[in-house]
Amino acid sequence: MPAPNRLPPMLRIHTHPRFRAHEVPPGYPENAARLDAALHGVHRAGLDGTVITSLSPTIETGRIIAKVHSENYAKELESACHDGFKLFHSHDNPISRESYAAATTAVASALTAAEEIWESGKATRGFVVARPPGHHAERAEAMGFCFFNTIACVAERLRELPGIERVFILDWDVHHGNGTQTIFEDRDDVYYASIHRYPFYPGSGAAHEIGFGKGRGFTRNIPLSGGAGDTAFVDAVETTLLPIIDDYRPDAILVSAGFDAHRRDPLGGMRVSESAYGLMTRMVVAAAERHCRGRVLSLLEGGYDPDGLASSVEEHVVAMT
Ligand SMILES: [Zn+2]
Repeated sequence: MPAPNRLPPMLRIHTHPRFRAHEVPPGYPENAARLDAALHGVHRAGLDGTVITSLSPTIETGRIIAKVHSENYAKELESACHDGFKLFHSHDNPISRESYAAATTAVASALTAAEEIWESGKATRGFVVARPPGHHAERAEAMGFCFFNTIACVAERLRELPGIERVFILDWDVHHGNGTQTIFEDRDDVYYASIHRYPFYPGSGAAHEIGFGKGRGFTRNIPLSGGAGDTAFVDAVETTLLPIIDDYRPDAILVSAGFDAHRRDPLGGMRVSESAYGLMTRMVVAAAERHCRGRVLSLLEGGYDPDGLASSVEEHVVAMT
């Protein structure tokens, strides 16, 4: 029997030159070299031809940011950037003149990727190589290198689309995504699940944090001890999260893809290998095939060792092709 005439799943990778304009002091871990490392991983995967560097969201990025963040917060960040370099809200959040533009562009790039997957059908899967990252950003507070919560913005946008009633966010960054949890913890239409080191920065993410009110039972935290490696991470996805996804039956799956649990990472203190990221990605893609026509959008969060980031991204994107 000949193989059925199916188009291969199509991955599009999004990045933008403006992400480099968010300038940070020398030696700061969240820097523009991270973009080079991630894109080197894409190159090694042979996927340079899938990289998109333009923006085309037909919806207004500012309107979506305003659904996630308070109006005063966005204005405060914009005006603070006019002054040039300084710290914004925390010692982890230096800003420069273009930081507001870079953070806004990160959201626009992710919205462009989401539109390609869930509206125009140009792609089945996407990976957004952006900075600054987003999952620590609270509604009105910058934290942990993050300014706007990009993945929360994407989830809010997806909930506006007909037929998308449940969005599942999987966050495997080594740090707990406090911002994403807080934004959705009282809702049942966006499920937030996180695998992370605990206790660790930012301090949240205990197993008993399961959401509240209507959202009770729609937040799941899997805290792991320092030094955890492939078995702990892969088991968490396979034995805990996949049954949750199958029970939740999401219409869209988003990944907060931080690679700072990699064994080479200088901040994470974990022992995950690049191949485990590939394995976890394949499991998520398989779950998406079962529930939402294979559609997955992944956003780069942390990852601070250039070689570890490149090799992890390589495995991640290959697994999404
Ligand atoms: Zn992180």
